Amino acid sequence: MVKNLYKGNLYWDKTLLNPYEFEKVNTDLSTKVLIIGGGFSGNLCANVLSQSGMDVTVVEKSKVGTGSSVASTGLIQYRSDKMLSEFIDEIGEEKGRLFYQMCLEAVDNLTAINNNLNGDTEYRLKDSIYYASSKKDEKKLKTEFEYLKKYDFPVEYLDKIQLNDRYGIKKVAALRTWHDADVNPYKFIQVLIKRNLEQGVKYFENTNIDLDSIKDNSIKTKDGNIIKYDKIILATGYSKIYPATKKKTLYNRTYAICTKPLENLWTDEVMIWETMEPYLYIRTTEDKRIIAGGLDEERNILEKNQLRRLVKATKIADKVKKLFPNLDIKIDYYWTALFYGTKDGLPFIGKDPDRSNVYYLLGYEGNGMCYSMAGSLIIKDLINGVFNKYENIVGLDR
Ligand SMILES: Cc1cc2nc3c(=O)[nH]c(=O)nc-3n(C[C@H](O)[C@H](O)[C@H](O)COP(=O)(O)OP(=O)(O)OC[C@H]3O[C@@H](n4cnc5c(N)ncnc54)[C@H](O)[C@@H]3O)c2cc1C
Repeated sequence: MVKNLYKGNLYWDKTLLNPYEFEKVNTDLSTKVLIIGGGFSGNLCANVLSQSGMDVTVVEKSKVGTGSSVASTGLIQYRSDKMLSEFIDEIGEEKGRLFYQMCLEAVDNLTAINNNLNGDTEYRLKDSIYYASSKKDEKKLKTEFEYLKKYDFPVEYLDKIQLNDRYGIKKVAALRTWHDADVNPYKFIQVLIKRNLEQGVKYFENTNIDLDSIKDNSIKTKDGNIIKYDKIILATGYSKIYPATKKKTLYNRTYAICTKPLENLWTDEVMIWETMEPYLYIRTTEDKRIIAGGLDEERNILEKNQLRRLVKATKIADKVKKLFPNLDIKIDYYWTALFYGTKDGLPFIGKDPDRSNVYYLLGYEGNGMCYSMAGSLIIKDLINGVFNKYENIVGLDR
């Protein structure tokens, strides 16, 4: 069990004064659907399932929303870390296209849910700019553009001049995509909880579940209470490595900064990222700060040394300054966090290969929130026995 998911001074938790608080489990319980984990994934799934009339209980080890979700930088994009062209090379054209289709639909579904919540989520539709980090990546970008265009994904190719004229970015070329958004993930979760409570979802926090105690239809809390269920959904993020996912997971840590508010940001405050890996990525916030992240390292422990974390934060700030030399960037918050990926670039969503009433909702990879959305709908279909055209792409036995 991973103890700490992040270290440092986060930003999103400072934007909300009175988050929801819930009782801990202090007696035996029973529910139709039990969701372990009160992060972005667990709450979205609870929303989707309770909306369709299911009896749902969410149990969280700590405080709801304070796992990786509160450390997330909150970019919601249909294009994943791995290009469509790369997926096509590895899993074939049809599966690659379907996976990207799943992501585009997920982003649109998330936007629809957000609009329906009608709350203060700081969810903003934003275009994304994905630029070629070097001249040699220009060809890769062109191939990606051709594939995206072929399947009608929302994309535009910008050459050097267009990129500079429109966005003031001095790089050789970029893709502009839309249907994307940015969000305050912590506020989004809180608003979602409000709706979920209205839909009858029951919440418990400060309750550590013994994830190795799963029996056919029950599980134990670390305090010894028993929770009975028909279906259990493990939305535990990076906290627990399961036998079914262990060998296919990539264990990384990453760094992020949030600046002090600035006066003049770039055109449309588009989200920006690049072809190089690990990539730099940048977005803004409602109060005109810049959030940027990157410098991922293949390490499964957090950087404990504060000075070394500051060095990383400064490096990220310098990269942003290089892109926008006119901005007066001052770091206000900086943190490091665990950040898991998968060897094939796909998330882990679906039934446990050996236990038919156990489901995983693990949106590993950079598009975790988009995957949480897609995964919630897949799990709803799996529970209802309805075929979902994406289940075989992201399933654990793929
Ligand atoms: C720095 C950083 C930047 C990111 N940026 C982006 C981004 O821009 N866009 C994007 O889409 N994704 C991004 N991600 C990924 C995204 O944050 C995650 O995919 C998403 O927040 C995960 O949500 P979750 O609910 O799965 O995990 P969490 O938020 O970690 O929720 C899981 C919850 O399960 C609880 N839990 C675990 N074990 C137990 C147990 N035994 N009993 C009870 N409860 C338990 C944990 O306490 C935790 O609260 C980023 C992640 C990081 C760290």
